[in-house]
Amino acid sequence: MSDQPTVFTKIINGEIPCFKIHEDEHTFAFLDINPLSPGHTLLIPKEQVATLDKLSDDAAAAIGRVLPRLCRAIVKATGIADYNILQNNGELAHQAVNHVHFHIIPKPDTKTGLGVGWPSGELNKGTASELAESISSGL
Ligand code: AMP
Repeated sequence: MSDQPTVFTKIINGEIPCFKIHEDEHTFAFLDINPLSPGHTLLIPKEQVATLDKLSDDAAAAIGRVLPRLCRAIVKATGIADYNILQNNGELAHQAVNHVHFHIIPKPDTKTGLGVGWPSGELNKGTASELAESISSGL
């Protein structure tokens, strides 16, 4: 997937308007233009990469620092205590804008906000240990 500039780079650069909530050296947050619920916010790194696995440790740390603070502010402003964090990577995973972004989506009731399908299976105990080791060795 390409790391070319997207609409989010234009938002960071002030070339297209947004309802800005936060900006610091490494991160930027603004209201989603098509919200699933009131207060639906996007938090993005200024670093221009398409998917989370490509994000530098410094940019990831900056996101990690601000995300809980942003959640607290959204809860306070909306009065909605429940919310989902959604972070899509790749077309199959429903990513439409190829610049890393975290959705913070208030969940005011069962019908509004993020709907989650959860077609869970059973962990294969025969291959789980090899899989865990394989992932672990890639860290
Ligand atoms: P995703 O499917 O995870 O890539 O979500 C991309 C999100 O970006 C969607 O929720 C869009 O509504 C949102 N979005 C796209 N363009 C803009 C924009 N100009 N301002 C605010 N949000 C936007």
